[in-house]
Amino acid sequence: MYAGIFMLDFLQDLLQMDKREKDCFCHCAEVLQEVYGKGMSMLGTKKQRMVFAILLVFFLFATGFTVISLPDNILDVGVVRPAQGTVTYLDRTLPLGEPMLFVSGRLFLPLQPMVTALGGAVSYAEDALVIKHGSRQVSLSKEKEDALYMPLYFESDTPYIYLYDLTNLFSLAAVFDSDANKLSLYHRQAALPYEADREDVPPKPAYLRLEDITADYGIGNNYTDEGLEKLRVIADYMYERGQSFDIAWIPLYTNPSRQLQNDLTSNFDFYNAGFLYTLDYLVDHNGQIVLHGLTHQENDTVSAVGTEFGKNSPFTLDEVEERMKHAKKTARWLSFDDSIFEFPHYSFTPKQLDIAVRLFGTICMQYPYARKAGRVEHVNSLRSDTTFIPAPLGYMPNQGELPEFREKIKNAVDSELLGMFVHPYIDFANITCATVDGYRTFDYQSGAIIPSVVDEVAKNGYVFSKIK
Ligand SMILES: [Zn+2]
Repeated sequence: MYAGIFMLDFLQDLLQMDKREKDCFCHCAEVLQEVYGKGMSMLGTKKQRMVFAILLVFFLFATGFTVISLPDNILDVGVVRPAQGTVTYLDRTLPLGEPMLFVSGRLFLPLQPMVTALGGAVSYAEDALVIKHGSRQVSLSKEKEDALYMPLYFESDTPYIYLYDLTNLFSLAAVFDSDANKLSLYHRQAALPYEADREDVPPKPAYLRLEDITADYGIGNNYTDEGLEKLRVIADYMYERGQSFDIAWIPLYTNPSRQLQNDLTSNFDFYNAGFLYTLDYLVDHNGQIVLHGLTHQENDTVSAVGTEFGKNSPFTLDEVEERMKHAKKTARWLSFDDSIFEFPHYSFTPKQLDIAVRLFGTICMQYPYARKAGRVEHVNSLRSDTTFIPAPLGYMPNQGELPEFREKIKNAVDSELLGMFVHPYIDFANITCATVDGYRTFDYQSGAIIPSVVDEVAKNGYVFSKIK
């Protein structure tokens, strides 16, 4: 036993663990000893087995095993509820016959009546559903559904299709009126993927983050149904220009004075379905999810206005860890990536940062211990492998400061990382969505903020890229 304790002390010093981590480490060793006790009995005495268990845990730490595991029993996955509301196509209400469904919060529509109403047909071939529409034919097999963003959902053999997949397959625009529980479908010109010129010199990577996106029921006047549609127009723009972007998403919108906490994993309604539709749309058009805290607030403050972490945070380290895990869990439950994190207002303490480093592969901020600021840093330790991506150019505040911001980009070329962020709603005034003859049309004014930033970056040989 003394050898085990000595070894443990040595490893603790080596890993510079705090008390909580030590406890966890010891617990792992004990659990392993218990679980594999029988098999290990051939190793000899209890003392020898303990040493072996400690060495095994050390090996697991050193090879990337993490002691922070997420319990799987907090949230039920695949919750399905009926969605009471109406769907119109070219302003005519569709008699669907079957109810619409919220499947884990996303809006699913009965496949057969929807496709028929849109002028197509569904037939059943061997193990597959075939959708025909005009000259197009899409085959969806139960096992392999590459053509879809989300698998079909079957409610006692009746297939349901996710709204985003339906709008993709039929080139439709979805317009939400969440107060009326109404979804209107129109024709649209789908965004075309960017085709790079093979002669081009490969561009250098730059990074753009769309900041503070949250399901606030339009309370902040930004993420209304209309605002979310404009966010999708921004995604189209980025996609068509071959640019990627990060989506700094606050997973749990919280507004204490309104007694509101909008949990997307339990509040299934048309607003949240429109919000999830929008996040899916962004992700599928070159966007990458960044978990921007859990609530981005503390005490009585509102999400995106408050902070959450940092030295003035009211939360203990255990609570901080729980909050980060809760954010990850929400993302995973909704089928989003949970590996990238950003501290709200870059506010953190070294111990809070340690927790984030163990939970996330990428953190959007300046690595605080870097020799030189303004660079991407890959930081490896025995237990983690983390990339830090800073945004040295800060944020683009408003239309009036666009010329100065373009100048800032130009001056940073070749000397600094072109990392920046923007609150996307500052561009909403430059975007118009309208319906003309059954078509949803979108106008993104020339000279608008995000297109101008993309122009400046592209002109200097850069492309907004995904974090790798
Ligand atoms: Zn923020």
